[in-house]
Amino acid sequence: MTTFNDWEISRFLRGTAAPRQKTTEFSERLATGRENVWVWTCRQNVWTGTCYLAFRNIYQQGDLLFWQEERNVIKRCPEHGYFRGEACECGAVGEAVLDDERSEKLGRLVAGALRHFPDDMGLEMSPRGWVDLDDLSEAIGTRYRWANKRLVISLVQSDPKERYEIREGKIRAKYGHSVDVDLDYPPNELSSLYYGANEEEADRILEVGLKAATQRYVHLSTAPEKAWHVGTFRTKSPRVIRVDAEAAQRAGVKMMTVSENIVISENVPPEYLSPVPLADLNLEG
Ligand SMILES: [Zn+2]
Repeated sequence: MTTFNDWEISRFLRGTAAPRQKTTEFSERLATGRENVWVWTCRQNVWTGTCYLAFRNIYQQGDLLFWQEERNVIKRCPEHGYFRGEACECGAVGEAVLDDERSEKLGRLVAGALRHFPDDMGLEMSPRGWVDLDDLSEAIGTRYRWANKRLVISLVQSDPKERYEIREGKIRAKYGHSVDVDLDYPPNELSSLYYGANEEEADRILEVGLKAATQRYVHLSTAPEKAWHVGTFRTKSPRVIRVDAEAAQRAGVKMMTVSENIVISENVPPEYLSPVPLADLNLEG
């Protein structure tokens, strides 16, 4: 499949051809890709085109081209496998695997099946939260006919939040369950962990403690900067709370290491919590 990166598009637009010729040439180049659609119309001597470049929407008005970034698009780098967004870490644009909209739909259904309603999907879940990958793919295929096992795998491997794991033909959510699961991760060994919250939340948490709202465990970050970053999904200027993990665990609070970035914890009483001054964070930019 032919795909174009920003550089190619801007180079093309900087060419000397008249807008109409440009559009035609561009259209021909796009036609070599399988899923590219290029629609253009002329009104009052101005050509307006809308190009659905594979997995990235591009709009042209007159001489100008606009495009939308789609953060959930799943692509594949020949060297590094599946990734999300514009380019792989190595800079490769990659081959598109799943568009933004479908990736979001698939993500929601997989999350629902593995965290909240395996029964509704007819799935058998082990006490540790594992579900057969073939069964899950089949169940999802009945809901979305375009979905399949390969797409489920691409979703898991490209997930920036490391939400799932696949092992020996089984799949599970690493955290975020509302169904009763008994996860078997190794105990946390870090003395401090962190949680990012908005201002109001932070005040309340420091008073009453950290409590999982609908999920079984609270998700903590392994560094204050990471917690701050997680907090930015909910508020522009998050506050970071430090958890005295060592003391809390000694007092019987169960904490488990899910990944390099994430530790899940039972509710943490307020005596183990303290605010981290923003000035202490090592934030870039
Ligand atoms: Zn790569």
